[in-house]
Amino acid sequence: MQSSFSPPTWVEISLSRLQENWKTVRAVVPCDCGLVAVLKADAYGHGALDCCRAIQECGAKWFGVSTPAEGRRLREVCTDGKIIVLSHFGEQDCDDILDCDLIPKIWEPWQADCLVAACRQRGRSDKLPLHVEFDTGLGRQGVPSTAALNVLLDCFQASPILQIEGVMTHFYAPEALRPDGTVQQIHRFAELLGPMLRRGINVRYLHAGNSATAFVPAHVEALQSLAKSCGAALMIRPGMALYGHPPRFSTPMMIDLPQLLPVLSLKTRVMSFSHLVTGETAGYEMTFRASRPTRLALVPVGYADGLSRLLSNRGVAIIRGQKVPYAGRISMDLTLLDVTETPSASVGDEVTLIGEQGGESVSAYDIADAIGTIPDEVTCAIRARVPRILRN
Ligand SMILES: *Cc1c(COP(=O)(O)O)cnc(C)c1O
Repeated sequence: MQSSFSPPTWVEISLSRLQENWKTVRAVVPCDCGLVAVLKADAYGHGALDCCRAIQECGAKWFGVSTPAEGRRLREVCTDGKIIVLSHFGEQDCDDILDCDLIPKIWEPWQADCLVAACRQRGRSDKLPLHVEFDTGLGRQGVPSTAALNVLLDCFQASPILQIEGVMTHFYAPEALRPDGTVQQIHRFAELLGPMLRRGINVRYLHAGNSATAFVPAHVEALQSLAKSCGAALMIRPGMALYGHPPRFSTPMMIDLPQLLPVLSLKTRVMSFSHLVTGETAGYEMTFRASRPTRLALVPVGYADGLSRLLSNRGVAIIRGQKVPYAGRISMDLTLLDVTETPSASVGDEVTLIGEQGGESVSAYDIADAIGTIPDEVTCAIRARVPRILRN
């Protein structure tokens, strides 16, 4: 039965699995290839602070966050690590960057200008290390051409306080191996680096690629020789693999994927039951109609917790080790499950929405496939109001 202390719906995070996944990724890349642990968006919904602590224990030194505000929070637990702001920053974020020694990633001259202004305002005279992003084909952000790079580098020459410590790019389809756009992107990366090397800029780190890249030896080798050619250390930036979500290659037989363990489970408990006679309906808009005498279990979780409403009448959860379908529309805070075929289901029973129970499992991939998205969105969607509980 339900203990009076347990929250109605909760997330369990297995830090030992996270550590296992870290070691697995670590083992597939060469020893001299660094890893940036991507903890964006609160570690894809897993809780960045706890995840950071756990992988620091395994030796992780570099971390990626979405924004300077996330970096500021992470600094509490990451006192010596390097924190790169991967997604975006603006003028309002310069204090976070400077106070917390975050590494901004820049691609526009205005970003250099606002960092210089913030340093001046504080009378800061020691160098501010930063990374420059190149757009090698994603078409989203990054320096797109050697001409644009020259303009940016002129800004740096005018403001010697800024120091280019690293260069990076991001791949648009690292899971597609035929045709392999990543190969072209690596070539483009090499071309774009030209003006930087000609100006004698000493690049210490070159980073690119995500979880998928780490598992493709040819990509890692190509990046490694590019890094060597400019005297830089290579780093790859895995995210999803650390959380136990393997990349899905378009040609899976070409890649030998080691086992990764899902880190996050989403759980709740049965609150009550309702009973329908044949022909009765349940939930908003009568989208579930009983085709037989039906027993429905009510669970205190809904789309306001991050359980997608698109799972209505589509996905399954696990109760008493059996898969049971969602019945009717998922509402804001409440959801129904059809437990007609699980007569032993009782009030207080634990229900697994994501995770494993009694030999059955529902993965974030299963949910993503049911609603047409990716596991990252499924875990990121779980709201802060759902407590994260650590377990082994
Ligand atoms: C999110 C992100 C990653 C990690 O991607 P995964 O597919 O989760 O491994 C790596 N690099 C950048 C720049 C990212 O934004």
